[in-house]
Amino acid sequence: MARLKVENLRKEFDRGSIVAVDDVNLEVEDGEFVTVVGPSGCGKTTTLRMIAGLEEPTSGSIHLGDEDVTDQSARTRDVAMVFQNYALYPHKTVFKNMEFGLRMSTDLSKPERREKVEWAAEMMDIEDLLEDTPDELSGGQQQRVALGRAIVREPKLFLFDEPLSNLDAKLRTTMRAEIQRLQDELGITSVYVTHDQEEAMTMGDKIVILNDGELQQTGEPKAVYDEPANRFVGGFIGSPSMNFVDVVAQRSGDHLVLTDGEAFQYSLSPEYSTEMAVDDGESVILGIRPEDVHPADGEDGIRTTVDVVEPIGSDNYLYLDIGDEFMARVSADFEPEVGDSVEVTFEESKIRLFDDDNGESLL
Ligand code: ATP
Repeated sequence: MARLKVENLRKEFDRGSIVAVDDVNLEVEDGEFVTVVGPSGCGKTTTLRMIAGLEEPTSGSIHLGDEDVTDQSARTRDVAMVFQNYALYPHKTVFKNMEFGLRMSTDLSKPERREKVEWAAEMMDIEDLLEDTPDELSGGQQQRVALGRAIVREPKLFLFDEPLSNLDAKLRTTMRAEIQRLQDELGITSVYVTHDQEEAMTMGDKIVILNDGELQQTGEPKAVYDEPANRFVGGFIGSPSMNFVDVVAQRSGDHLVLTDGEAFQYSLSPEYSTEMAVDDGESVILGIRPEDVHPADGEDGIRTTVDVVEPIGSDNYLYLDIGDEFMARVSADFEPEVGDSVEVTFEESKIRLFDDDNGESLL
């Protein structure tokens, strides 16, 4: 087991014309499970491949435990990687697939290797498959074998590159739980790449968000959800997505009043008005999540029109005529008709303001 420390990691391709990873810093504590998430092409896989030793960084360093492994080959890093396409040897049995890494990188005797493979097979509940070849197995079984092969070596670090993308939704949920159980039992430091923000949020002790090769935010899932560092994170994390409204902030006595120049106006209470680092007359972006928009219920609210009502069972999604696109998630008891005029209000502590130039949080 070991702590992973990545410092100022950069990767250029095509003589610098593509910057896949741009100055990324990352710390993963001993035994921690960290998920790395971001849209397609944001540099997740390249980051993981550099940590694995499969790709050479342009600059920066990677420490595993006390050791600087930046210039070490993949073989000597004591890292196990699990891929989306399983990467099993098609002509070898499950047993041989799982044993292969032990034969290559340890001097264990044959009975010792058998014992380890059997232990890993039991952990993954694939004891009955040891004499089968991969083409006789389902996708889920193949991924169990790939996981078994990774744990058999008891590596210092587990790296997962979208391991569940090829599985159907139900199996994915089962395997998520399985991977978490494994990690709990073995306590192996893990970095798990996914493009699925829900997967990243549910699995990670800590979540790392990348965009355009740059680190956007690192933190516990709930902290990232509640306090996104910038507009990108606010919009990327959470489904349905955070609403954004372009507004101008005006100081009026103790209050900060946010208006869009049309019907939208929201006056923040003095408590929150002072917290916001916003000048009088500044253009900012207001962010509020759909579940933090409520029917005004007698209070002074924002009057708006209902454009679409989408019932999802327990709740209704209401698309409202605020900004370009705005959604409220309300209880199913509140069921206005399309075209109705309604009043809504915001959970004030959940309002975020972002700089309209660089998207940084102003809270
Ligand atoms: P995805 O989720 O689609 O796999 P990703 O976040 O894993 O994306 P990377 O595969 O790391 O992203 O790619 C980051 C950027 O680097 C992309 O613009 C990609 O086109 C580019 N890139 C990756 N590998 C190479 C390569 N070998 N040569 C040139 N460009 C590359």
